[in-house]
Amino acid sequence: MDAAAVAAWLREFARLIAENKELLTELDSAIGDADHGTNMDRGMTAVLTALDGAAGTPGALLKRTGMTLVSTVGGASGPLYGTAFLRMATAAGDADSLDAEGFAKVLRAGLDGVVARGKAEIGDKTMIDALTPAVDALDAALADGQPLGEALRAAVRGAEQGREATIPLVARKGRASYLGERSAGHQDPGATSVTMLVAAAAKALGA
Ligand code: ADP
Ligand code: MG
Repeated sequence: MDAAAVAAWLREFARLIAENKELLTELDSAIGDADHGTNMDRGMTAVLTALDGAAGTPGALLKRTGMTLVSTVGGASGPLYGTAFLRMATAAGDADSLDAEGFAKVLRAGLDGVVARGKAEIGDKTMIDALTPAVDALDAALADGQPLGEALRAAVRGAEQGREATIPLVARKGRASYLGERSAGHQDPGATSVTMLVAAAAKALGA
């Protein structure tokens, strides 16, 4: 997986965010302030511009993505996604390409970054409720000897299950936590967008 493959992943993520912008904002209107779709779309549109003509290593592209998200996306999700990509960049180092295990390490570093920054635990109704099972499923499938494409599809199933599991939860982090019990019964917007990040990886890298 070289820089072109990583760029294809980021472009596919941007496409999914743009396509689902209204859905994400609608989810955020139920338990937040109705801006998650516009926040993420603004950020990923800026990332597309930043990636245009950008050359370099996977790590360099991931770093550029993180810095762009930190500077263009406000709210909770900007620093969280920004930190995720900056940690991914550090994990990717200056290698010209990543193998399947290397990519799994990069994704886990992103998850660890979100946890370090946001201090959320599983079950708090946040993006980590979807990203954690995705990264765990990816690691398990690779350890089981499955090819990257199969492993990424397992990761998508993990993310989707985690995303669905946020519906009954009471939020304990972020803006949705202000609603207390009234946050239950709604799917978390960040868990929904991060599932798109994993789905984009399966689509772009999982052939
Ligand atoms: P804001 O809440 O500032 O309006 P967004 O609407 O863009 O920001 O993002 C909301 C999403 O951010 C939530 O759905 C949740 O998944 C995620 N989130 C909020 N706080 C945290 C946290 N501490 N850790 C992980 N994710 C969080
Ligand atoms: Mg919001």
